[in-house]
Amino acid sequence: MANVNEWFKNRVAVLATMHQKERAIAPVLESELGVKVQVPANFNTDFFGTFTREIKRLGTQIEAARLKAEKALEITGETLAIASEGSFFPHPAFPFVSCDREILLFLDKEHNLEIIGQEISPETNHSHKTIKTVQEALDFAQKVGFPEHGLVVMVSVKSTDHEEIFKGIDTEETLIEAVETALRKSPDGTIHLETDMRAMYNPTRMKVIEIATHNLIKKIHQQCPQCFCPGFDLVERQSGLPCGLCYAPTSLILLDIYQCQRCNYREEKRFPEGKETADPAQCIYCNP
Ligand SMILES: [Zn+2]
Ligand SMILES: [Zn+2]
Repeated sequence: MANVNEWFKNRVAVLATMHQKERAIAPVLESELGVKVQVPANFNTDFFGTFTREIKRLGTQIEAARLKAEKALEITGETLAIASEGSFFPHPAFPFVSCDREILLFLDKEHNLEIIGQEISPETNHSHKTIKTVQEALDFAQKVGFPEHGLVVMVSVKSTDHEEIFKGIDTEETLIEAVETALRKSPDGTIHLETDMRAMYNPTRMKVIEIATHNLIKKIHQQCPQCFCPGFDLVERQSGLPCGLCYAPTSLILLDIYQCQRCNYREEKRFPEGKETADPAQCIYCNP
C-alpha cells in the first residue's frame, strides 16, 4: 500500500491516557491519518507509575509506553493503540535547566508495527522547592506559571501516603489551604512543593506532547522504499566523518542507517548533517 493513509484510515486508535492528552494528540492523528481516536473509560495509567513517585514507573520510558499501549489493546480488543510517556531530566549542557522528553508510541497489531515519535524540549516549568511559609509557596507558584499550571504540595519529598500529597492544585485558595495543612503535619516545619506535571495541569507539557505527535506523524510517513511499510527509521549511526584538513576519521557522524521493520531493507544516508568533512577543531590529530 503505497499511500500511508490506507494503512490506518477509519480504524479506531485507542489512546491510553487518563490525563486528557487526547486534547493534544487526537486532532493531529485524526486529521493526518484518518483514524478515530478513542480513550477507554476508566483507564488508570497511574498503575504504570506516577510523577509524584508514590508508584514507581516500570522499566524505561519506552517500555512504560509499550505496556500502556498493550494494556489498552487488551481492555478494548482493538488493534491500534497510542501511548504517551513523559520524563524530565537536567539539560545535558545546562544542569540547572530541566528538559522535557515526550515520547509517543504507536502500536499496530494488525500490521505488526511499532513506531515511536519523540520531542525533547527545554520548554518546561518542571521545578520543585522546599518551603516553610505560605508566602514562599506563593512566590514559587508565581515563578512556575500558576494557576494555569498546577502544583503539588507534599508534607515531605518522600511522602507516599495519599493523606500527605495534595495534587492538581490550581487556585490560590486551595494552594494556601494545602500548604497550611501540610505545614501542620510536617515534623520539621518544612514541606515540599513541586509543579504538577500531569498533562491536564500543565499546558506547557501539553504543547510538547503536540509537537511529539507531529514528529510521530512524520515518522509514520517515512516509508520503506522497498515495501512501503510506514516508520522507516534510523536504527544506527556511525561516526567517522573525515577531518577537513588531514582526512582522519573524527567522532562526528559519517552515516545514518535506516531499516524497515517489516522487510529489513536497509539504507545508508551519508553525511546526515549536510557536511562532508569535519571542522579540524574536532580532529584528534589537528587539534590534540
Ligand atoms: Zn520494507
Ligand atoms: Zn585532522
